[in-house]
Amino acid sequence: MRISVIGCGYLGATHAASMAELGHEVVGVEVDAAKRARLAAGEVPFFEPGLPELLAKHVASGRLRFTDSYAEAAAFADLHFVCVGTPQLPSSLGADTTYVEAAVRSLAAHLTPGGSGSGGPTYVVGKSTVPVGTAAAMAGLLETLSPEGTDVELVWNPEFLREGFAVQDTLEPDRVVLGVASERAEAAMREFYAPMAQRGTPFVVTDYATAELVKVSANAFLATKISFVNAVGEVCDAVGADVVALADAIGHDARIGRKFLNAGVGFGGGCLPKDIRAFQHRAGELGVEEAMSFLSQVDTINQRQRQRVTQIAKELLGSEVSGRRIAVWGAAFKPDSDDVRDSPALDVAGRLHLRGADVRVYDPEATETARVRFPTLTYAASAIEAAEGADLVLHLTEWKEFRTVDIDAVTRVVAGRRLLDGRNLLDLDAWRAAGWQARGLGRR
Ligand code: NAD
Repeated sequence: MRISVIGCGYLGATHAASMAELGHEVVGVEVDAAKRARLAAGEVPFFEPGLPELLAKHVASGRLRFTDSYAEAAAFADLHFVCVGTPQLPSSLGADTTYVEAAVRSLAAHLTPGGSGSGGPTYVVGKSTVPVGTAAAMAGLLETLSPEGTDVELVWNPEFLREGFAVQDTLEPDRVVLGVASERAEAAMREFYAPMAQRGTPFVVTDYATAELVKVSANAFLATKISFVNAVGEVCDAVGADVVALADAIGHDARIGRKFLNAGVGFGGGCLPKDIRAFQHRAGELGVEEAMSFLSQVDTINQRQRQRVTQIAKELLGSEVSGRRIAVWGAAFKPDSDDVRDSPALDVAGRLHLRGADVRVYDPEATETARVRFPTLTYAASAIEAAEGADLVLHLTEWKEFRTVDIDAVTRVVAGRRLLDGRNLLDLDAWRAAGWQARGLGRR
């Protein structure tokens, strides 16, 4: 089928290349000229394993191209995926849906009664994460703004991909959620996603509001799980108990599960933090603020982990951090990504820098994105270079490289053997055996 993908960031570029891989013909609509030029040249403007190969393959094959023209998209396809951003509003906890609205308005203006010429109806499929009620509003907007006689319908199809596993998650999702207003829309989407149905992927077909809520509820649940174990970790610290053993033990219970129970410096990125805030905000607008008020605690606990790390850094140094050299391993909000949006690692690095510490940051992939956001920090070219002359090493993003680092090599270059494992993934016994004072969060 011929499709357009509107907004080609982390979600859209991955969706566009993956749908080309499934055999569809794709035009990506991207307003950022620099990003569009790189995509058109077959280059991915961010780090995502497996995506560069897929994108280059389909740009070369001609199955995938990029434009800034909505007219071109409307003339090319009858299935349009909206993948633009929904960041937090500057003035409140709510999500900014103006990019979604702008995309729908721009597209609607170019739709025609005959569609792209196939004779079938046109479907606009929202994939962005939005506050419940947005889809209904966008359906209304499409109806109002599309030229008289245009047969257009909205579908909401939230996306659950994880950065670092984006291609795999797009091609082999755990489930496909479809918020539809008609049986023909369901049939069209099932036909489009037929390769996934053939793999046995579960389809959940529902209304717009439920589809929107599925996405924000999933993120709220994951964030709650992380903050739960972090809160328990604080109690573990108070009594000298071990949150890693505790998580292993409760995780054996199939009702609980071990995933997302790693205590540490907390969650970040372009999704979880803004999604739980937007969920709370929307609940308030709907008059059910109390129901989601616990998410404010989830957020507070998460933010507190960043303070805990700076506090423990101070304790390990035995004094103020000012004037001390600190190596920060990690800048991305998670491994296998160069995304530094609301990154706990970069937040902690920034806090320590602002308190006068000489902070040296190293990240295998996120140095350039981090430099744009935090140009005043010093960036190193390797974990060892960051550790040179350091009084303290902080492990804040769980890249594999840090778990397999040569401890002796690090030991040779530091000024003081102090380590804080902010992700509770390093072998503290091995570091202690090399003479290090090594701590985790909530861990002995
Ligand atoms: P992003 O900022 O990386 O990408 C958004 C892109 O849309 C940008 O390239 C921007 O230039 C473009 N854009 C903005 N307005 C446009 C317009 N009117 N026309 C065409 N292009 C336009 O954001 P992202 O991380 O890809 O997230 C997009 C949405 O997907 C958000 O709602 C997010 O919550 C959701 N989501 C993201 C992920 C993820 O892991 N990144 C996962 C699931 C869902």
